[in-house]
Amino acid sequence: MSWEKNVRRAVPYVAGEQPRKPDIIKLNTNECPYPPPPGVKRAAGKIDLDALRLYPDPGASILTDALAEYYHVRPEQVFVGVGSDDVLSMAFLTFFNSEDPILFPDVTYSFYSVWAELYRIPYRTCALGEDLRIRPEDYSQPNGGVIFPNPNAPTGILESIGTVEKILQANQDAVVIVDEAYVDFGGTSALPLVEKYDNLLVVQTFSKSRAMAGMRIGFCIGSEKLISCLNDVKFSVNSYTMSLPAQVLGAEALRDEDYFRSVTDKIILTRERIKRELAELGFSSTDSRANFIFASHESIPAEELFTALREAGIYVRYWKKPRIDNCLRITVGTDEQMDRLMEFLGTYVGKSRILDCTATIPEKIENGEVQ
Ligand SMILES: *Cc1c(COP(=O)(O)O)cnc(C)c1O
Repeated sequence: MSWEKNVRRAVPYVAGEQPRKPDIIKLNTNECPYPPPPGVKRAAGKIDLDALRLYPDPGASILTDALAEYYHVRPEQVFVGVGSDDVLSMAFLTFFNSEDPILFPDVTYSFYSVWAELYRIPYRTCALGEDLRIRPEDYSQPNGGVIFPNPNAPTGILESIGTVEKILQANQDAVVIVDEAYVDFGGTSALPLVEKYDNLLVVQTFSKSRAMAGMRIGFCIGSEKLISCLNDVKFSVNSYTMSLPAQVLGAEALRDEDYFRSVTDKIILTRERIKRELAELGFSSTDSRANFIFASHESIPAEELFTALREAGIYVRYWKKPRIDNCLRITVGTDEQMDRLMEFLGTYVGKSRILDCTATIPEKIENGEVQ
């Protein structure tokens, strides 16, 4: 097959399952369990469908202007994309163009290595510490750029702004990208540092805290110089990525701050409650500041739990990867969904404890402990 040698081969990112079955509990892709703000529904009904005959504004100014106002930056500092995956992919293509490797944590969002491979960007991973925290000193080695999520995924662990700034200080000659997909669930954003560091790009999304994964809206904020480079590359790939509905509904979603706060506050409350209840069942979990919990059980392997949960119609995320192959990542759903999860786990852990005891009886008999 002669043409095959000329084909760009990619090992794609594997997203969490999107089963279309009814009655399942879907806690595997960190979507918001609550609907978008009511204003979005109203605005959707008012979209001028005749206008769909025209190409949308390639600069998506309805949305970039709304984001600029919301985050108190200039519109020239904002770039939007079809989900933050699109924004990140464009950023990799634009900013990571060095022969030195880019750096990111060994346990992190698995899309980073996929883009690096696709765009042939050399990369090196920096091992998280035993406590699964980023070690800022690792990012002082020569590099062609740095990227990490904060809070990190799938650990949920939040690094302080001090740590982020330490990494920026050591990396003034390369672009540093902070992926803040989960920052609205109790994190501190690096956005204020954008004024001080013109090489910092902060990426966020409407998919998690803003309950709009299906609309595909992501954005980033940085210096005007960074954003202008990003636009040059984007307009060399596809000018019209943001549909008119995405621009209009995205801008609308930013208007209802009270609703936004109530949703994120609710998710945080549920997260903390479930962390405590999991601990009572023998699970340990990280101090997640995201809309998911990263947990492992003291005796039952994560893979076994993942399969049992899936069979019961409860979908969570599991990776058979070094360092995290005994952990489950569980999205924080509604209280009702989480109660059903806990009910299942309570029964499962209970049964396995009984089995554990019975399994040791023959040994006890042999040892003369039991007559
Ligand atoms: C979910 C996620 C994204 C991308 O989400 P989009 O839906 O494409 O906006 C990016 N980074 C991390 C760490 C994520 O978890």
